[in-house]
Amino acid sequence: MNTERHEYDVVVIGAGGAGLRAAIEARQQGKRTAIVCKSLFGKAHTVMAEGGAAAAMGNVNPDDNWMVHFRDTMRGGKFLNNWRMAELHAKEAPDRVWELEAWGALFDRTKDGKISQRNFGGHEYPRLAHVGDRTGLEMIRTLQQRVVALQQEDYETHGDYEAYIKVFAECTVTRLLKDGDAISGAFGYWRETGNFILFDAPAIVLATGGIGKSYVVTSNSWEYTGDGHALALLAGANLINMEFIQFHPTGMVWPPSVRGILVTESVRGDGGVLRNSEGKRFMFDYVPDVFKDKYATSEEEGDRWYTDQANNRRPPELLPRDEVARAINAEVKAGRGSPQGGVFLDVSTRLPAEEIKKRLPSMHHQFKELADVDITAEPMQVGPTCHYIMGGVEVDADTGAAAVPGLFAAGEVSGGMHGSNRLGGNSLSDLLVFGRRAGAGAAAYVDGLAARPKVADDAVEAAREEAIAPLGRSGENPYEVHHELQRTMNDLVGIIRKPGEVAEALQVVEKLKERVALVGAAGSRVYNPGWHLAIDLRNMVLVSECVARAALLREESRGGHTRDDFPGMNPEWRRKLLVCSTEGGSAVRVEEKIQPRMRDDLISLFEREELSKYLTDEEMTEFDGIAK
Ligand code: FAD
Repeated sequence: MNTERHEYDVVVIGAGGAGLRAAIEARQQGKRTAIVCKSLFGKAHTVMAEGGAAAAMGNVNPDDNWMVHFRDTMRGGKFLNNWRMAELHAKEAPDRVWELEAWGALFDRTKDGKISQRNFGGHEYPRLAHVGDRTGLEMIRTLQQRVVALQQEDYETHGDYEAYIKVFAECTVTRLLKDGDAISGAFGYWRETGNFILFDAPAIVLATGGIGKSYVVTSNSWEYTGDGHALALLAGANLINMEFIQFHPTGMVWPPSVRGILVTESVRGDGGVLRNSEGKRFMFDYVPDVFKDKYATSEEEGDRWYTDQANNRRPPELLPRDEVARAINAEVKAGRGSPQGGVFLDVSTRLPAEEIKKRLPSMHHQFKELADVDITAEPMQVGPTCHYIMGGVEVDADTGAAAVPGLFAAGEVSGGMHGSNRLGGNSLSDLLVFGRRAGAGAAAYVDGLAARPKVADDAVEAAREEAIAPLGRSGENPYEVHHELQRTMNDLVGIIRKPGEVAEALQVVEKLKERVALVGAAGSRVYNPGWHLAIDLRNMVLVSECVARAALLREESRGGHTRDDFPGMNPEWRRKLLVCSTEGGSAVRVEEKIQPRMRDDLISLFEREELSKYLTDEEMTEFDGIAK
């Protein structure tokens, strides 16, 4: 069996926003760059993003600036965020959005011609640059156009469009290869033919997105099998914050075939309200103490906020996602849910039909086509859906470098930036800010190398054998194993975690690991989805183990991790990260690590009273005279 072989300086795995931005940067720094993606080029989660990219440009409210954005991000993540990442993100997001515009992105405009910005949960001011509810599509279109522009430049100079940047689409990477401690390449297969492919490269940027396919009800699509998380772990990198999973409060609940598909937060940002079966706007009952002074206490005040933000507080429908998801979950459990087990989200009584069609065209189309519901005339039924993982590869904030020399990560596969809970809109800007930084980090790393690491033949042979193993076995059906994993994670490690249930999930996952090692796929290597799933299962089980182990250890509730037996936040836990690692993938080790202390100039952006809600007494004494 021949393995096709290519040599690059930087290989970027993933062609969503993070991967494309990283690849553009590496190429702009003069590196020969490959972009590898397992889906079609242009089909990544980024393309599905609806609401927008958060960047404090101050176009709609001039009071907005990076400091307000930084504060909102830290609050949203309940102060567990890597503060350096939150700082870089808040400072650099506007430049990245303007850069996209310079590359041809057509954002919606304000009346005076600036990039329009919309409201979103947890953001103090209108901050999301958007294109209707199809922002991700425009972002991907623009970044792809930039790749093509660079290829045209390369043709002019080298007579070859692909001399410095080439796309390998529908190609799945299954193993990272190392020379000693350092990255030397990546091994994978073409999905269509099943033929193997090897990349010799000293630097790899992981930009593979999330893990949602470990859950049954999810807004994520088939490629979100935690590949990058697992590839990093197996190569010796660490994962952090894996217990924090964002359940988006509003996924479709009906019909069953589309359960979990996202209903964008823009519906609430543009005035949509949540009601229970009794017609009550229940979110007013769920404003937690830490946010009490920032949210309206009456419907009238909440409604006034849409037209006069200076003199009113925002409605509680716009609390961070973890709060809204828990509230919906509680209403349904209390028997006040909608007929199909969600709650009602209504924009029809809040905006004229034409305005809804203009601002939310995809939502209008999605509900009409999939559920036969006209959102301009009736409410939607919505409920929580597994949406995003805050946890991921532990990286250096400035360069995206992981613990393994030559390995970099950006976007949803990386961890730290969003702490325990991501604010809506902060992912698209994260992709641009840290995609660029990881591409630059990888290029600088290559420049600094004295010698190129070498790919070892036996490592390639081992990767090849691992990949073909399911084809030679008459073992269990991979779809059955997958379904059991999804049900287990959904039911036992979902929104509300009970220690007994999480421990039970871990036992199931342990058994599933053994079963995964024995799954079989009928047929050949030629386009064989059963075989592809059998390969992906290794990753999903490994990542699920990280989520469950960390969820069992963290004895508090914070952001995307809610423990039934420890309902409140514990300041001692705020300081700690749970770090997952493995030797050979057989068992996951989880260790506690203390977060570095926030810099004084960043501390001084917060009121003392607010900090005291999150920090230990010892930390507060340290910050005496620094906080406002
Ligand atoms: P992706 O865009 O998912 O790209 C991952 C890439 O990795 C793909 O190309 C995939 O094929 C490739 N890949 C994966 N595994 C492998 C492998 N083994 N080998 C090769 N290639 C591989 N965020 C916002 O900020 N604003 C929004 O409005 C918003 N709306 C959203 C709406 C929906 C429906 C969803 C699901 C998410 C939304 N998000 C939003 C979140 C945001 O879209 C994602 O977090 C973000 O797009 C992830 O980007 P990424 O570049 O990290 O990964």
